[in-house]
Amino acid sequence: MEIRKPIPVSSAVEKVINHSKPLPIIEIDYLNSLGYSLAEPIIAKHDVPSFNRSPYDGFAVRSIDTKGASSTERILFNVIDHIGAGEVSNHTIGPFEAIRIMTGAMIPKGADCVIMFEQTLEYGNSFTIRKPFEPNENISLQGEDAKKGEELIPAGTLIHPGTIALLATFGYHKVKVRRKPKVGVICTGTELIDVEDELVPGKIRNSNGPMIIAQLARMGIEGTYYGMFSDDLDTCLSLVEQVFKENDLVITTGGVSVGDFDFLPQIYKELGAEVLFNKVAMRPGSVTTVAVLDGKLLFGLSGNPSACFTGFELFARPAIQTMMGNRKVFLPQVKAYLEEDFFKPNPFTRFVRSLYTFTDGKPVIRPAGFNKSNAVSSIAKGNAIMVLPGGTRNFKAGDLVDVLLLGLEDGVESWTI
Ligand code: AMP
Ligand code: MG
Repeated sequence: MEIRKPIPVSSAVEKVINHSKPLPIIEIDYLNSLGYSLAEPIIAKHDVPSFNRSPYDGFAVRSIDTKGASSTERILFNVIDHIGAGEVSNHTIGPFEAIRIMTGAMIPKGADCVIMFEQTLEYGNSFTIRKPFEPNENISLQGEDAKKGEELIPAGTLIHPGTIALLATFGYHKVKVRRKPKVGVICTGTELIDVEDELVPGKIRNSNGPMIIAQLARMGIEGTYYGMFSDDLDTCLSLVEQVFKENDLVITTGGVSVGDFDFLPQIYKELGAEVLFNKVAMRPGSVTTVAVLDGKLLFGLSGNPSACFTGFELFARPAIQTMMGNRKVFLPQVKAYLEEDFFKPNPFTRFVRSLYTFTDGKPVIRPAGFNKSNAVSSIAKGNAIMVLPGGTRNFKAGDLVDVLLLGLEDGVESWTI
Protein backbone atom coordinates (compact mmCIF):
# COMPACT_ATOMS: atom_id res chain seq x y z
CA MET A 1 0.00 0.00 0.00
CA GLU A 2 1.17 3.50 -0.81
CA ILE A 3 2.41 5.41 2.27
CA ARG A 4 1.33 9.04 2.16
CA LYS A 5 3.20 11.76 4.01
CA PRO A 6 0.90 14.28 5.72
CA ILE A 7 1.69 17.97 5.32
CA PRO A 8 0.54 20.70 7.73
CA VAL A 9 -2.76 22.42 6.95
CA SER A 10 -0.98 25.76 6.54
CA SER A 11 1.38 24.33 3.89
CA ALA A 12 -1.54 22.74 2.06
CA VAL A 13 -3.45 26.03 2.05
CA GLU A 14 -0.34 27.85 0.84
CA LYS A 15 0.14 25.40 -2.04
CA VAL A 16 -3.47 25.82 -3.11
CA ILE A 17 -3.28 29.60 -3.04
CA ASN A 18 0.04 29.63 -4.90
CA HIS A 19 -1.61 27.70 -7.69
CA SER A 20 -4.72 29.92 -7.86
CA LYS A 21 -4.67 32.84 -10.25
CA PRO A 22 -7.09 35.77 -10.37
CA LEU A 23 -9.42 35.36 -13.37
CA PRO A 24 -9.69 38.04 -16.07
CA ILE A 25 -11.27 41.41 -15.36
CA ILE A 26 -14.73 42.03 -16.81
CA GLU A 27 -16.98 45.07 -16.71
CA ILE A 28 -20.52 44.53 -15.48
CA ASP A 29 -23.58 46.55 -14.58
CA TYR A 30 -23.13 47.73 -10.99
CA LEU A 31 -26.58 46.42 -10.05
CA ASN A 32 -25.40 42.88 -10.82
CA SER A 33 -22.12 43.26 -8.94
CA LEU A 34 -23.22 42.05 -5.49
CA GLY A 35 -20.87 39.26 -4.37
CA TYR A 36 -18.15 40.01 -6.94
CA SER A 37 -14.80 41.50 -5.91
CA LEU A 38 -13.79 44.95 -7.11
CA ALA A 39 -11.03 44.84 -9.70
CA GLU A 40 -10.62 48.62 -9.46
CA PRO A 41 -10.66 50.88 -6.40
CA ILE A 42 -13.67 53.10 -5.80
CA ILE A 43 -12.31 56.64 -6.06
CA ALA A 44 -14.44 59.59 -4.99
CA LYS A 45 -15.16 61.28 -8.33
CA HIS A 46 -16.41 64.37 -6.50
CA ASP A 47 -16.87 65.62 -2.94
CA VAL A 48 -19.69 64.12 -0.89
CA PRO A 49 -21.72 66.12 -0.23
CA SER A 50 -20.83 67.98 -3.42
CA PHE A 51 -22.31 71.22 -2.01
CA ASN A 52 -23.00 72.56 1.48
CA ARG A 53 -26.48 71.36 2.37
CA SER A 54 -28.99 71.46 5.14
CA PRO A 55 -29.27 68.39 7.39
CA TYR A 56 -32.58 69.69 8.82
CA ASP A 57 -35.83 71.36 7.91
CA GLY A 58 -35.48 75.00 9.07
CA PHE A 59 -34.16 78.41 8.10
CA ALA A 60 -30.82 79.33 6.56
CA VAL A 61 -29.43 82.61 7.96
CA ARG A 62 -26.16 84.49 8.57
CA SER A 63 -24.74 83.41 11.95
CA ILE A 64 -23.48 86.95 12.56
CA ASP A 65 -27.12 88.13 12.76
CA THR A 66 -27.88 85.67 15.56
CA LYS A 67 -25.28 87.14 17.92
CA GLY A 68 -26.72 88.16 21.28
CA ALA A 69 -30.04 86.33 20.86
CA SER A 70 -31.53 85.18 24.16
CA SER A 71 -34.93 84.40 25.64
CA THR A 72 -35.31 88.03 26.68
CA GLU A 73 -33.65 89.51 23.55
CA ARG A 74 -35.24 87.51 20.75
CA ILE A 75 -33.99 88.37 17.26
CA LEU A 76 -36.41 88.65 14.33
CA PHE A 77 -35.74 87.34 10.81
CA ASN A 78 -37.74 87.86 7.61
CA VAL A 79 -38.23 84.91 5.29
CA ILE A 80 -37.40 85.85 1.66
CA ASP A 81 -37.54 82.47 -0.13
CA HIS A 82 -38.51 78.83 0.30
CA ILE A 83 -36.58 75.83 -1.11
CA GLY A 84 -36.93 72.07 -0.92
CA ALA A 85 -34.32 69.37 -1.57
CA GLY A 86 -33.12 69.56 -5.17
CA GLU A 87 -33.97 73.26 -5.47
CA VAL A 88 -31.53 76.16 -5.46
CA SER A 89 -32.41 79.69 -4.33
CA ASN A 90 -31.38 82.65 -6.53
CA HIS A 91 -31.34 84.93 -3.52
CA THR A 92 -28.33 86.00 -1.51
CA ILE A 93 -29.19 86.31 2.14
CA GLY A 94 -28.78 89.79 3.62
CA PRO A 95 -28.87 91.00 7.25
CA PHE A 96 -31.72 89.47 9.26
CA GLU A 97 -33.02 87.65 6.22
CA ALA A 98 -33.74 83.91 6.12
CA ILE A 99 -34.61 81.27 3.54
CA ARG A 100 -36.94 78.48 4.53
CA ILE A 101 -34.96 75.34 3.63
CA MET A 102 -35.70 71.62 3.68
CA THR A 103 -33.35 68.73 4.47
CA GLY A 104 -30.94 68.08 1.62
CA ALA A 105 -31.33 71.50 -0.03
CA MET A 106 -28.26 73.55 -0.96
CA ILE A 107 -27.35 76.30 1.52
CA PRO A 108 -28.13 79.64 -0.18
CA LYS A 109 -25.49 82.27 -0.83
CA GLY A 110 -24.76 84.45 2.20
CA ALA A 111 -26.04 81.90 4.75
CA ASP A 112 -23.63 80.01 7.01
CA CYS A 113 -25.93 78.24 9.47
CA VAL A 114 -29.33 76.61 9.72
CA ILE A 115 -31.88 77.12 12.48
CA MET A 116 -34.21 74.18 13.00
CA PHE A 117 -37.95 74.85 13.01
CA GLU A 118 -38.06 73.68 16.64
CA GLN A 119 -35.68 76.52 17.58
CA THR A 120 -37.95 79.28 16.28
CA LEU A 121 -41.26 81.00 16.97
CA GLU A 122 -42.95 81.74 13.64
CA TYR A 123 -45.18 84.74 12.87
CA GLY A 124 -46.45 84.68 9.28
CA ASN A 125 -43.43 85.42 7.09
CA SER A 126 -41.03 85.96 9.97
CA PHE A 127 -39.72 84.23 13.06
CA THR A 128 -37.67 84.90 16.16
CA ILE A 129 -34.88 82.97 17.83
CA ARG A 130 -33.64 82.85 21.43
CA LYS A 131 -30.04 81.68 21.02
CA PRO A 132 -27.05 82.53 18.87
CA PHE A 133 -25.64 80.15 16.21
CA GLU A 134 -22.04 79.45 15.23
CA PRO A 135 -20.73 79.64 11.67
CA ASN A 136 -21.36 76.25 9.98
CA GLU A 137 -23.77 75.20 12.72
CA ASN A 138 -26.29 72.69 11.34
CA ILE A 139 -24.63 72.53 7.93
CA SER A 140 -23.46 69.40 6.16
CA LEU A 141 -20.22 70.67 4.72
CA GLN A 142 -19.07 69.89 1.22
CA GLY A 143 -16.63 66.94 1.31
CA GLU A 144 -17.28 65.98 4.95
CA ASP A 145 -18.26 62.43 3.92
CA ALA A 146 -15.73 61.92 1.09
CA LYS A 147 -13.18 64.17 -0.62
CA LYS A 148 -12.76 64.21 -4.39
CA GLY A 149 -9.89 61.95 -5.46
CA GLU A 150 -9.86 59.93 -2.22
CA GLU A 151 -9.58 56.14 -2.58
CA LEU A 152 -12.55 54.93 -0.57
CA ILE A 153 -12.54 51.18 -1.21
CA PRO A 154 -9.46 49.33 -2.50
CA ALA A 155 -9.50 46.84 -5.34
CA GLY A 156 -9.88 43.29 -4.11
CA THR A 157 -12.82 44.07 -1.83
CA LEU A 158 -16.02 42.07 -1.87
CA ILE A 159 -19.00 44.10 -3.08
CA HIS A 160 -21.83 44.30 -0.52
CA PRO A 161 -24.95 46.49 -0.41
CA GLY A 162 -23.01 49.45 1.04
CA THR A 163 -20.49 49.17 -1.80
CA ILE A 164 -23.35 49.27 -4.30
CA ALA A 165 -24.59 52.49 -2.66
CA LEU A 166 -21.12 53.99 -3.10
CA LEU A 167 -20.88 52.88 -6.74
CA ALA A 168 -24.22 54.58 -7.37
CA THR A 169 -23.11 57.74 -5.51
CA PHE A 170 -20.19 58.24 -7.89
CA GLY A 171 -21.92 57.19 -11.09
CA TYR A 172 -20.05 53.90 -11.53
CA HIS A 173 -22.86 52.37 -13.58
CA LYS A 174 -20.33 49.90 -14.95
CA VAL A 175 -17.83 48.38 -12.55
CA LYS A 176 -14.69 46.32 -13.13
CA VAL A 177 -14.69 43.00 -11.31
CA ARG A 178 -12.98 39.64 -11.67
CA ARG A 179 -14.94 36.99 -13.47
CA LYS A 180 -16.28 34.30 -11.13
CA PRO A 181 -14.87 30.80 -11.63
CA LYS A 182 -16.87 28.07 -13.32
CA VAL A 183 -16.86 25.19 -10.89
CA GLY A 184 -17.84 21.63 -11.79
CA VAL A 185 -18.86 19.17 -9.07
CA ILE A 186 -18.78 15.37 -9.38
CA CYS A 187 -19.66 12.79 -6.73
CA THR A 188 -18.21 9.31 -6.87
CA GLY A 189 -19.40 6.21 -5.03
CA THR A 190 -21.26 3.10 -6.14
CA GLU A 191 -23.23 3.32 -2.88
CA LEU A 192 -24.81 6.66 -3.78
CA ILE A 193 -28.46 7.13 -4.64
CA ASP A 194 -30.43 10.29 -5.33
CA VAL A 195 -32.54 12.32 -2.96
CA GLU A 196 -35.77 10.99 -4.54
CA ASP A 197 -34.68 7.35 -4.34
CA GLU A 198 -35.92 4.84 -1.74
CA LEU A 199 -33.23 3.66 0.66
CA VAL A 200 -32.13 0.10 -0.08
CA PRO A 201 -29.59 -1.92 1.89
CA GLY A 202 -26.04 -0.77 1.36
CA LYS A 203 -26.95 2.49 -0.33
CA ILE A 204 -26.92 6.05 1.01
CA ARG A 205 -28.35 9.25 -0.38
CA ASN A 206 -25.79 11.56 -1.88
CA SER A 207 -25.52 14.55 0.46
CA ASN A 208 -22.11 15.89 -0.57
CA GLY A 209 -23.10 16.99 -4.07
CA PRO A 210 -25.96 19.27 -3.00
CA MET A 211 -23.93 20.46 0.01
CA ILE A 212 -21.03 21.61 -2.15
CA ILE A 213 -23.36 23.32 -4.60
CA ALA A 214 -24.80 25.17 -1.58
CA GLN A 215 -21.34 26.00 -0.20
CA LEU A 216 -20.53 27.49 -3.60
CA ALA A 217 -23.84 29.36 -3.67
CA ARG A 218 -23.06 30.84 -0.26
CA MET A 219 -19.94 32.31 -1.88
CA GLY A 220 -21.98 33.65 -4.78
CA ILE A 221 -20.86 30.92 -7.19
CA GLU A 222 -23.32 28.99 -9.30
CA GLY A 223 -21.61 25.61 -9.53
CA THR A 224 -22.45 22.98 -12.12
CA TYR A 225 -23.45 19.64 -10.69
CA TYR A 226 -22.56 16.79 -13.03
CA GLY A 227 -24.13 14.07 -10.90
CA MET A 228 -22.94 11.00 -9.07
CA PHE A 229 -21.05 8.11 -10.58
CA SER A 230 -20.17 4.55 -9.68
CA ASP A 231 -16.60 3.73 -8.76
CA ASP A 232 -15.58 2.79 -12.27
CA LEU A 233 -12.23 4.02 -13.52
CA ASP A 234 -13.13 4.51 -17.19
CA THR A 235 -16.42 6.32 -16.54
CA CYS A 236 -14.88 8.58 -13.91
CA LEU A 237 -11.79 9.33 -15.99
CA SER A 238 -13.71 10.50 -19.06
CA LEU A 239 -16.09 12.46 -16.88
CA VAL A 240 -13.34 14.26 -14.95
CA GLU A 241 -11.69 15.05 -18.31
CA GLN A 242 -14.90 16.59 -19.63
CA VAL A 243 -15.60 18.56 -16.44
CA PHE A 244 -12.01 19.77 -16.40
CA LYS A 245 -12.38 21.13 -19.95
CA GLU A 246 -15.68 22.87 -19.20
CA ASN A 247 -14.69 24.56 -15.93
CA ASP A 248 -12.04 26.64 -14.19
CA LEU A 249 -11.99 24.34 -11.19
CA VAL A 250 -13.15 20.78 -10.50
CA ILE A 251 -14.39 19.41 -7.21
CA THR A 252 -14.87 15.66 -6.76
CA THR A 253 -16.01 13.91 -3.63
CA GLY A 254 -15.09 10.39 -2.63
CA GLY A 255 -12.52 8.01 -4.06
CA VAL A 256 -9.34 9.77 -2.92
CA SER A 257 -8.45 7.28 -0.23
CA VAL A 258 -6.45 4.07 -0.59
CA GLY A 259 -9.41 1.67 -0.93
CA ASP A 260 -9.73 -0.83 -3.77
CA PHE A 261 -12.29 1.35 -5.57
CA ASP A 262 -10.70 4.74 -4.90
CA PHE A 263 -9.81 5.74 -8.44
CA LEU A 264 -9.08 9.44 -8.14
CA PRO A 265 -5.31 8.98 -7.61
CA GLN A 266 -5.25 6.86 -10.79
CA ILE A 267 -7.31 9.49 -12.63
CA TYR A 268 -4.86 12.28 -11.71
CA LYS A 269 -2.06 10.07 -13.02
CA GLU A 270 -3.82 9.32 -16.31
CA LEU A 271 -4.59 13.02 -16.81
CA GLY A 272 -0.98 13.95 -16.09
CA ALA A 273 -2.01 16.22 -13.23
CA GLU A 274 0.56 17.16 -10.59
CA VAL A 275 -0.63 16.14 -7.12
CA LEU A 276 0.11 19.04 -4.75
CA PHE A 277 -0.72 16.91 -1.71
CA ASN A 278 -2.72 13.80 -0.93
CA LYS A 279 -2.53 13.80 2.84
CA VAL A 280 -3.02 16.69 5.25
CA ALA A 281 -2.32 16.62 8.98
CA MET A 282 -5.94 17.31 9.84
CA ARG A 283 -9.05 15.57 11.16
CA PRO A 284 -11.41 15.12 9.48
CA GLY A 285 -10.31 15.05 5.87
CA SER A 286 -6.71 13.86 6.04
CA VAL A 287 -7.09 12.24 2.60
CA THR A 288 -8.01 15.56 0.98
CA THR A 289 -6.12 15.72 -2.28
CA VAL A 290 -5.45 18.66 -4.55
CA ALA A 291 -3.92 18.33 -8.00
CA VAL A 292 -3.12 20.85 -10.70
CA LEU A 293 -3.22 20.51 -14.46
CA ASP A 294 -2.62 23.32 -16.97
CA GLY A 295 -2.95 25.85 -14.16
CA LYS A 296 -6.38 24.54 -13.10
CA LEU A 297 -7.01 22.99 -9.71
CA LEU A 298 -8.73 19.67 -9.07
CA PHE A 299 -10.03 19.26 -5.53
CA GLY A 300 -10.42 15.67 -4.43
CA LEU A 301 -12.49 15.94 -1.28
CA SER A 302 -13.18 12.99 0.97
CA GLY A 303 -16.58 11.34 0.65
CA ASN A 304 -17.12 11.56 4.39
CA PRO A 305 -19.57 14.45 4.72
CA SER A 306 -17.85 16.33 7.58
CA ALA A 307 -14.48 15.89 5.91
CA CYS A 308 -15.92 16.99 2.58
CA PHE A 309 -17.48 20.09 4.12
CA THR A 310 -14.30 21.03 5.98
CA GLY A 311 -12.08 20.35 2.98
CA PHE A 312 -14.18 22.73 0.90
CA GLU A 313 -14.04 25.54 3.45
CA LEU A 314 -10.32 25.13 4.16
CA PHE A 315 -9.01 24.68 0.63
CA ALA A 316 -11.57 25.32 -2.11
CA ARG A 317 -12.79 28.58 -0.55
CA PRO A 318 -9.41 30.38 -0.56
CA ALA A 319 -8.72 29.15 -4.10
CA ILE A 320 -12.07 30.45 -5.34
CA GLN A 321 -11.69 33.77 -3.51
CA THR A 322 -8.23 34.21 -5.00
CA MET A 323 -9.63 33.52 -8.48
CA MET A 324 -12.34 36.10 -7.82
CA GLY A 325 -9.68 38.63 -6.88
CA ASN A 326 -10.78 38.97 -3.27
CA ARG A 327 -7.96 39.88 -0.87
CA LYS A 328 -9.82 38.31 2.06
CA VAL A 329 -9.69 34.69 1.01
CA PHE A 330 -10.25 32.96 4.37
CA LEU A 331 -13.24 32.38 6.62
CA PRO A 332 -13.41 34.95 9.42
CA GLN A 333 -11.32 33.84 12.43
CA VAL A 334 -12.19 34.68 16.04
CA LYS A 335 -11.50 33.27 19.51
CA ALA A 336 -14.08 31.81 21.86
CA TYR A 337 -14.26 30.04 25.23
CA LEU A 338 -14.99 26.32 25.19
CA GLU A 339 -18.33 25.63 26.87
CA GLU A 340 -17.49 22.01 27.70
CA ASP A 341 -14.45 19.78 28.13
CA PHE A 342 -12.99 18.26 24.96
CA PHE A 343 -10.78 15.38 26.02
CA LYS A 344 -10.04 13.69 22.69
CA PRO A 345 -6.35 13.86 21.79
CA ASN A 346 -5.55 15.73 18.58
CA PRO A 347 -2.65 14.00 16.85
CA PHE A 348 -3.53 16.12 13.78
CA THR A 349 -5.12 19.58 13.78
CA ARG A 350 -8.76 18.96 14.54
CA PHE A 351 -11.61 20.87 12.91
CA VAL A 352 -14.81 20.44 14.91
CA ARG A 353 -18.20 21.46 13.53
CA SER A 354 -19.41 23.70 16.32
CA LEU A 355 -21.93 26.18 17.56
CA TYR A 356 -20.60 29.66 18.26
CA THR A 357 -22.72 32.00 20.36
CA PHE A 358 -22.35 35.05 22.53
CA THR A 359 -23.56 33.95 25.95
CA ASP A 360 -23.38 35.80 29.27
CA GLY A 361 -21.24 38.50 27.74
CA LYS A 362 -18.63 36.27 26.12
CA PRO A 363 -18.07 34.43 22.87
CA VAL A 364 -18.43 30.70 23.53
CA ILE A 365 -18.18 27.57 21.43
CA ARG A 366 -19.26 23.95 21.75
CA PRO A 367 -19.19 20.96 19.40
CA ALA A 368 -22.38 20.85 17.34
CA GLY A 369 -23.01 17.16 17.93
CA PHE A 370 -21.81 13.76 16.78
CA ASN A 371 -18.31 14.49 15.67
CA LYS A 372 -16.86 11.92 13.36
CA SER A 373 -15.64 12.54 9.83
CA ASN A 374 -18.68 10.69 8.46
CA ALA A 375 -21.12 12.79 10.51
CA VAL A 376 -23.70 14.79 8.63
CA SER A 377 -25.99 16.05 11.42
CA SER A 378 -23.35 18.20 13.11
CA ILE A 379 -22.71 20.07 9.85
CA ALA A 380 -26.34 21.16 9.84
CA LYS A 381 -26.34 22.11 13.51
CA GLY A 382 -23.11 24.08 13.44
CA ASN A 383 -22.35 27.66 12.47
CA ALA A 384 -18.59 27.54 13.00
CA ILE A 385 -15.53 25.32 12.95
CA MET A 386 -13.48 25.04 16.14
CA VAL A 387 -9.76 24.51 15.50
CA LEU A 388 -7.69 22.52 17.98
CA PRO A 389 -3.99 22.42 17.04
CA GLY A 390 -2.22 19.13 16.36
CA GLY A 391 -0.23 17.70 19.26
CA THR A 392 -2.70 18.88 21.91
CA ARG A 393 -5.16 17.08 24.17
CA ASN A 394 -7.49 17.63 27.12
CA PHE A 395 -9.07 20.98 26.42
CA LYS A 396 -11.20 22.12 29.35
CA ALA A 397 -14.34 24.21 29.60
CA GLY A 398 -13.23 27.84 29.72
CA ASP A 399 -10.16 27.34 27.50
CA LEU A 400 -9.82 29.93 24.75
CA VAL A 401 -9.76 28.34 21.29
CA ASP A 402 -9.63 29.39 17.64
CA VAL A 403 -12.88 29.52 15.70
CA LEU A 404 -13.66 29.92 12.00
CA LEU A 405 -17.06 31.48 11.44
CA LEU A 406 -19.51 30.22 8.86
CA GLY A 407 -22.79 31.61 7.67
CA LEU A 408 -22.64 35.12 9.07
CA GLU A 409 -25.98 35.64 7.31
CA ASP A 410 -27.63 33.58 10.06
CA GLY A 411 -29.24 35.91 12.60
CA VAL A 412 -30.07 35.66 16.29
CA GLU A 413 -33.46 35.11 17.89
CA SER A 414 -33.31 38.16 20.13
CA TRP A 415 -31.17 41.14 20.97
CA THR A 416 -29.80 42.38 24.26
CA ILE A 417 -29.41 45.96 23.01
P1 AMP B 1 -14.77 7.69 0.20
O1 AMP B 1 -14.13 9.02 0.38
O2 AMP B 1 -15.20 7.43 -1.21
O3 AMP B 1 -13.88 6.61 0.74
O4 AMP B 1 -16.08 7.67 1.08
C1 AMP B 1 -16.00 7.80 2.48
C2 AMP B 1 -17.37 7.67 3.10
O5 AMP B 1 -18.19 8.74 2.68
C3 AMP B 1 -18.09 6.41 2.74
O6 AMP B 1 -18.78 5.95 3.88
C4 AMP B 1 -19.05 6.85 1.68
O7 AMP B 1 -20.20 6.03 1.60
C5 AMP B 1 -19.40 8.24 2.12
N1 AMP B 1 -19.75 9.09 0.98
C6 AMP B 1 -19.09 9.13 -0.18
N2 AMP B 1 -19.65 10.00 -1.04
C7 AMP B 1 -20.72 10.52 -0.39
C8 AMP B 1 -21.70 11.47 -0.75
N3 AMP B 1 -21.69 12.07 -1.96
N4 AMP B 1 -22.65 11.80 0.15
C9 AMP B 1 -22.64 11.20 1.38
N5 AMP B 1 -21.74 10.32 1.77
C10 AMP B 1 -20.78 9.95 0.91
MG1 MG C 1 -15.99 5.98 -2.33
